[in-house]
Amino acid sequence: KVRVRFAPSPTGGLHLGGVRTALFNYLFAKKNNGDFILRIEDTDQTRFVEGAEQYIVDCLKWCGLEADESPVKPGQYAPYRQSERKSLYRQYAEQLVMQGHAYYAFDTAEELDKNRKEIPNFQYGQVYRDSLRNSLSLPQHEVDALLDAHTPHVIRIKIPADETVGFDDMIRGRVTFDTNQVDDKVLLKADGMPTYHLAVVVDDYLMKISHAFRGEEWLPSAPVHLLLWKYLGWKDAMPKWAHLPLILKPDGHGKLSKRDGARLGFPVFALDWQGDPGYNGMGFLPEAFVNMLATLGWNDGSGQELFTLNDLVEKFSIERINKSGAKFDFEKAKWFNAEWIKRSGGEGLLPEVKKVLQGKGIITNDDAYLLTVINLIKDRCTLLTDFYDQANYFFELPLEYDLNAVKPKWTPEKTDFFNNVIALLKESDAIDALILEERFKALATDKGLKPGDVMLPFRIMLVGGKFGPHVFDIAALIGKKETVKRIEAGIT
Ligand code: GLU
Repeated sequence: KVRVRFAPSPTGGLHLGGVRTALFNYLFAKKNNGDFILRIEDTDQTRFVEGAEQYIVDCLKWCGLEADESPVKPGQYAPYRQSERKSLYRQYAEQLVMQGHAYYAFDTAEELDKNRKEIPNFQYGQVYRDSLRNSLSLPQHEVDALLDAHTPHVIRIKIPADETVGFDDMIRGRVTFDTNQVDDKVLLKADGMPTYHLAVVVDDYLMKISHAFRGEEWLPSAPVHLLLWKYLGWKDAMPKWAHLPLILKPDGHGKLSKRDGARLGFPVFALDWQGDPGYNGMGFLPEAFVNMLATLGWNDGSGQELFTLNDLVEKFSIERINKSGAKFDFEKAKWFNAEWIKRSGGEGLLPEVKKVLQGKGIITNDDAYLLTVINLIKDRCTLLTDFYDQANYFFELPLEYDLNAVKPKWTPEKTDFFNNVIALLKESDAIDALILEERFKALATDKGLKPGDVMLPFRIMLVGGKFGPHVFDIAALIGKKETVKRIEAGIT
């Protein structure tokens, strides 16, 4: 059975690359009727950030990527938080020591620091191993004495010299590594916690993971993992890996980093995180965000760009993931959102728009009215937050009036004309947009005015500026009383 895992470390909010990794894992799992597992890789306690795990859970939920097994929905391989699995890992590290594939290292942090400072490109491994304090360089009785005295130590993998290790990446094909370039990574830390390298292999094995999609930045770790799978005797159970291409800065120069958002003026996080508004806070629909992410490094080959999550599940294929990095384009991201707002039925937008308006002090309980407003203006909105700028005048007086657009050309004839419009409105029943338009224009012609000369003032009175949908639709919607009130205010 296909089982994939998204295995983030709770070190902060999820940035674009992280969510895309989750998405591709999800799509592959669902396409193959498999399970999508969320595993929290929290063994590095120095990088642990309060709230990050909850953020990850909330983020997956917002995106609609529900995990089949997770810390909050444990399945048969529980627990799903590595810190809670701590006792499980030591035995594998010890097993590797016994087999000669790993060793105890007693170096203090100061000794290692000194080496790093004094030796250029210092790496713990084949070149600098014998000169250091570990069970490969010390006589056995000294090692025993150090262990008996509970001397703090780590367990490191012993990387062999002069070997080539490789695997078939689902995206890149054959990838190989020269073991002379790989250092002896720590597997078990002094506090008994495994490092990522040991934990990821043990857990992928124990949780029967069949495929793993992860960021390209993990490729350099692959040789360590490959050797662990081999030494632990699990080689045949190793998941198939796919290392996803990077998401690049808009100019294509380098990886988009968590720090780029503030500098480049767009969110890099999915949900708000430490000053970054996130795509949700910025007014993105989750459907648009997910759609946009899927197209960063993948396409279905037909030129189609708009996909629902279900479409993506259906169309997803590894063969169509690019090998090279995908440039991030915020304008394009906004285009996706505008398209999704257009495609959404007004009902779907209702709760979100309500929230946006509420945030600006506009409280409305008249859903039918709000729905009509939404449907009238949604084609003009790129972000959900635009609904306030585009719709406020349906609920309150315009925020400001663009008087420059009308004042210089104002004439007494126009005042007379609008007084007639008021009279006309007062005589009639509720406004019908078509009928009002007809009478309004006829009245203008009667008064020797060009309809075009009075349309703009009418708009400014109702809306405040030169924007918005058809002005007679606006009048019909805000109603006779309100329209009269705004004209009266406009001509005095
Ligand atoms: N814990 C790693 C991370 O934070 C997971 C890498 C992997 O998927 O192997 O991204």
